[in-house]
Amino acid sequence: MGESLHKPGPLAEEIAATKRRLAALEHQSVAATCVEMGHDWCLMGGANCGCEWIEDGETCRGMCSVPVHECRRCKDCDYGENPEGDMLRSDCATERNYI
Ligand SMILES: [Zn+2]
Ligand SMILES: [Zn+2]
Repeated sequence: MGESLHKPGPLAEEIAATKRRLAALEHQSVAATCVEMGHDWCLMGGANCGCEWIEDGETCRGMCSVPVHECRRCKDCDYGENPEGDMLRSDCATERNYI
């Protein structure tokens, strides 16, 4: 009738501990803020790039449009500070230097 007893080894214990830790983190993430979890950006429109350069002694502003995102969770806004905006602003600068 010998009952078998399985005594977990170090690896099995580590797996169990990691699973408990993951469950705790997932529980925590439900109430977490964007600072901890990252914003959930969605496109809300475009904004002027705000590039500036001097032309004939006057300050001129760029007119290219960069995408602006709003977080659907906390309603924070990135004001065009995103990789696509960076690319468009650098294009804008290149174009001005070329002219
Ligand atoms: Zn957010
Ligand atoms: Zn620009």
